Amino acid sequence: MLHIGCHLSSSDGFLAMGETALSLGADTFQFFTRNPRGSRAKAIDPADAAALCALLKEHAFAPLIAHAPYTLNPCSASESTREFARITMADDLARMEFVPGQYYNFHPGSHTGQGMETGIAQITDTLNAILTPDQTTTVLLETMSGKGSEVGGRFEELRAILDRVACKDKMGVCLDTCHVSDAGYDIIGDLPGVLAEFDRVIGLSYLKAIHLNDSKNLPASHKDRHEKLGQGCIGLDALTAIVRHPALGGLPFCLETPNELPGYAAEIALMRARVQD
Ligand code: FE
Ligand code: FE
Ligand code: ZN
Repeated sequence: MLHIGCHLSSSDGFLAMGETALSLGADTFQFFTRNPRGSRAKAIDPADAAALCALLKEHAFAPLIAHAPYTLNPCSASESTREFARITMADDLARMEFVPGQYYNFHPGSHTGQGMETGIAQITDTLNAILTPDQTTTVLLETMSGKGSEVGGRFEELRAILDRVACKDKMGVCLDTCHVSDAGYDIIGDLPGVLAEFDRVIGLSYLKAIHLNDSKNLPASHKDRHEKLGQGCIGLDALTAIVRHPALGGLPFCLETPNELPGYAAEIALMRARVQD
């Protein structure tokens, strides 16, 4: 059973996203917890959240992915920027409890010249400040393309963060196919090798979700520009091998391709068909 969905706008609330997902043939989806620029979040409507929970259960959705604003930087050289990331992420986690048991994905950050070690330490400090033993949300580190001073372009960097987090059972990893290809992992030519490397360095039990994207750029470009499935440098055959791989079976796959809703519906149908042949 392939669990697949796409990124949706949260502007009409929780239930509207669930209904849109169903109309696209999706059984998972991703949304930003607030404006991606990181500004104030709208108050949660508990009835709307409860209505989504009922829809998710009725239609056996895979876990949803709430995505932190991508402008947050828990390892900025600026202390106020780090503090803003910590406060925002803690608030997001509190809000997530209205839709319990989902995923909260974030970009580890950019160390902005402080060095990888310091960046990893500051990201870990943030996680240790906000994770609580009783939360129901699993927090996902996203694999990154390694552009600029980004942390998370190498599996070892994610492992180093996980090693130092106290609440390890609240943590996981989201693998973005565009990002790992751009980072230089050969998912086109050697998917088994990349997954073996992920397992050796991080552990496949931490792999909780996949961002299924093609890439506008060649492997190891360190660029991070997503493309529609089959129209980029990764290609449909490699992406099909990913959705069919037994080690990834059951994970939520989420499209973050440059599409409007009809384009997403077509990509969801395409990948469902490709899993079945
Ligand atoms: Fe992301
Ligand atoms: Fe992504
Ligand atoms: Zn990206």
